[in-house]
Amino acid sequence: MPFMRKEPPVPVPQGSKFCFKCSKVHLVEAFAVDNSKWDRRRPCCRSCDVARWSTYYAERMPQEVLQRRRRNWKATKARLETGLKREGSPHA
Ligand SMILES: [Zn+2]
Repeated sequence: MPFMRKEPPVPVPQGSKFCFKCSKVHLVEAFAVDNSKWDRRRPCCRSCDVARWSTYYAERMPQEVLQRRRRNWKATKARLETGLKREGSPHA
């Protein structure tokens, strides 16, 4: 029995692929390689994959790691803001 593939609801040009997750057509390069799939590409685009993984990490990551990350971000943000203030002096 042939495997039925989901047909994209919009015309997809050669070299592109339809993402069923965000319902957009992207270049095949926007899809990560997956050799187990019929077209050797992930069924959803990289940005959808990233979104999925961030949710996964948000749910599974130990609180300690998240807290450390938040602290690092605060330090980075403070550094950026100081840098911006220094560079943002009026040139007039
Ligand atoms: Zn997508």
